[in-house]
Amino acid sequence: MLKAVKFGGSSVAGAGQFQKVREIVQSDPDRRIIVVSAAGKRDGKDHKITDLLYLCNAHRTYGVSCEEILQEIEERFRQIRDELGLSFDIRGEFALLREKLNKGMNVDELVSRGEYFTARLMAEYLGLPFVDAADCVSFGMDGQLDREKTYQAIAAAYAEHGAMVLPGFYGRIPTGRIRLMPRGGGDITGALAAAAVGADVYENWTDVSGILMADPRIVKDPKPIREMTYGELRELAFMGASVLQEDSILPVREKGIPLNIRNTNEPEAPGTMIRERIDETQGEDRFITGIAGRRGFTILTVMKHNMEQSVSLSRALTILDQYHAKVEHITLGLDSFALVVSTAALGDAVFEVIADIKKNCRPDDVDIKDGIALVASVGRKMTFRPGVSGRLFKAIGEAGVNIRTIAQGADELAIVIGVEEEDYETAIRIMYEGFAG
Ligand code: ASP
Repeated sequence: MLKAVKFGGSSVAGAGQFQKVREIVQSDPDRRIIVVSAAGKRDGKDHKITDLLYLCNAHRTYGVSCEEILQEIEERFRQIRDELGLSFDIRGEFALLREKLNKGMNVDELVSRGEYFTARLMAEYLGLPFVDAADCVSFGMDGQLDREKTYQAIAAAYAEHGAMVLPGFYGRIPTGRIRLMPRGGGDITGALAAAAVGADVYENWTDVSGILMADPRIVKDPKPIREMTYGELRELAFMGASVLQEDSILPVREKGIPLNIRNTNEPEAPGTMIRERIDETQGEDRFITGIAGRRGFTILTVMKHNMEQSVSLSRALTILDQYHAKVEHITLGLDSFALVVSTAALGDAVFEVIADIKKNCRPDDVDIKDGIALVASVGRKMTFRPGVSGRLFKAIGEAGVNIRTIAQGADELAIVIGVEEEDYETAIRIMYEGFAG
């Protein structure tokens, strides 16, 4: 059995967190590929090292000295080293960094030092070899990850060392320059490493005991989701839940590797296990897996008596596409259709869009309604089960919430409703109370 484990910024924020990581790693000999983010916040008032490095760069850009911030960063790493009794040469490394900075180091390389130093310290603390992401994570000249090359290099490093610590979030382009991934990219490195070595599981250690069924700011003490499918995770992420984004899990999903989200501060908790398929004869029998939603949508309704719907609809879609406003949902009526679009994406183009629709579709009327929220209930167990949507709509209706749009994917994995923004939280609570048990 082989586990690739990734620790996020809060899991490596200080010496105390490093100790927890060591206990987790050493309690299971299968955990042999360790990926780390840069040290994150130790408490609410603290700063992430990555943010401080970006701040350093902003100072440089405006010709202001970044020495003070650099010293703060150096001090954070020195504290971790000293509290853990390590010998990593922080002073020498920072002298080198300053020298490079003076010569004009690029921003990606500067910011990548957060994960680099964190991983160097972690490797020494765990007594494992450090493998630099710059030597094994490759981007093409187009800036896209070269996954095959990356897989080969990580697999080769693993074959050589048998266990290792790898910094997340960065790699190299063919010219040798360091390139960063998007923010939170340590998750991608973890997934790449798991896929490269064919791990049996990819453990993603963070500071929550798995994914919760609903946003805890809206629902009090929502239950954690013990297991879910990759399809459900994708729906929840798309609908705005703060879970791992699709591109960061693609490498493991493709290779059929399960993903386990765990809590460094509560290592006994099983967290959330995500797999391609779940044996439905076991586990909990919950109707809904999770609930998520987003505010900030507009409904554009186009009305025309006896309209040739397909022609008008395709024209309206083309117009929205021209203005780069992605259509989230479409509902069709006999003499009308409604398009749900992100209000921000429409922006000021809304007037042009309406004018173009009037010109090209010749409708009787076009109506526009802002302030819409979309709420999705996601669950593989809703699939092909009669009566689910009926129960859902009844509960929402009884709470006095008016449903403005309804959409269900063809795979029946999610039911998405559009409600007034002021009803957003009520709709989520009703769904949770009625169906989460
Ligand atoms: N340190 C980077 C960030 O703060 C990447 C990561 O944490 O995964 O975004």
